[in-house]
Amino acid sequence: MALPSLFPHIPAGYCDEAESIPPFWLTTPEEVYHFLRTRIHLGTVETLAVSPGGRPVMAVSYGRPRAPGGTTTFSGTLGTRGQNIAYYRGADAAKTVFASMAAIHGGELDTIVGALNLLAVFETGHDLSGQAWPALVALRDQVDRIVIVPLLNPDGRARFPVRMEPYRGGAPDSFFIHEYLNTGGYKDGSLIGWPAVKEFIPMDFSQFGFPGGYPNDAGVNLMHDDFMGQPQPETRAMLDLCAREKPDLILNMHTGVAKDDYYMEIHRPFCEPRGQPVFDAFYRHVKTRLTLEGLQGSPDPAVSANPARVSNFAYNLNTALNLHSGGLCVTIESPCHGYSGTNRAGQPAIHSPETLLRTQLLAYEESLAFLAKTGGRVGWDAGLQP
Ligand SMILES: [Zn+2]
Repeated sequence: MALPSLFPHIPAGYCDEAESIPPFWLTTPEEVYHFLRTRIHLGTVETLAVSPGGRPVMAVSYGRPRAPGGTTTFSGTLGTRGQNIAYYRGADAAKTVFASMAAIHGGELDTIVGALNLLAVFETGHDLSGQAWPALVALRDQVDRIVIVPLLNPDGRARFPVRMEPYRGGAPDSFFIHEYLNTGGYKDGSLIGWPAVKEFIPMDFSQFGFPGGYPNDAGVNLMHDDFMGQPQPETRAMLDLCAREKPDLILNMHTGVAKDDYYMEIHRPFCEPRGQPVFDAFYRHVKTRLTLEGLQGSPDPAVSANPARVSNFAYNLNTALNLHSGGLCVTIESPCHGYSGTNRAGQPAIHSPETLLRTQLLAYEESLAFLAKTGGRVGWDAGLQP
């Protein structure tokens, strides 16, 4: 493999692969492009942008988009009496539109698996392990428009030097190699780590031993791009996609949760104030299902599905997309296949690749169900009925 010679400071053993890689585990740029080229027949594939490293950023869409026809900007709509979103969206304002993006951080492989398997379900009714998902297929048609970006940061993914990490256990430092490969390391082998990695945007790769999978080839962590100045092509593509599609709900899929509550988590976005009660209802909806499926750190939905437990995150891409187009944009964090943690009672929480796939698809299913049931922004503005 060429990458270790490009980054000779990566310590020996960090690039080890899992002993067996399941067939549903498709995560490299080549695997993603091949899948989109050969397996999409019902959806429409398009190239949104080309990354600084020369790699296409692709999207797959289903359903009919909103017709153009708004008479003002999103900001203009917020300045009107009643803040009627139809001024911005036009006659199709009540259509429900869903968008999602995976792997804005290139080493968060579980999210690429989730996105490609979601597309497989939309195309065939089954994920790539053969499991049927009839409710997801129905939701594909109940929601008016769906746009999936399965790999937003192909440069970061190409730099991340493994197809699938081996499982490294649950010891306190078992996250270290994943974190090194994801956020990067200094030349002495020590970790840059989260959130210190955010001190370097754009990152000067020559100053580090390994820049990690976070940035694109221009060194930019797209979550914290120069949104109102000179954003990167991948970020520009998401801004333009949201301006074109005017989504109600946008998922931003990541890997990375606390080891002492090692289950899928949803972060509260810093967004326009009217998005907050919608987020609360969305959080309750998705996390209740995950709790009932045994995929949360407490078996009690009153604990795991309580939105009061999540506080505001800082200004990031989710904020920019919300203020650009009015969609509620949320980060969903997955556990990692490479190490384990515990539940809230301190017992081991180990997620197999199969469990991670199931968790990803359940999150998509409940997000789409929430959108279909509540009617999107027009329904939310009329009075949310969670
Ligand atoms: Zn991330």
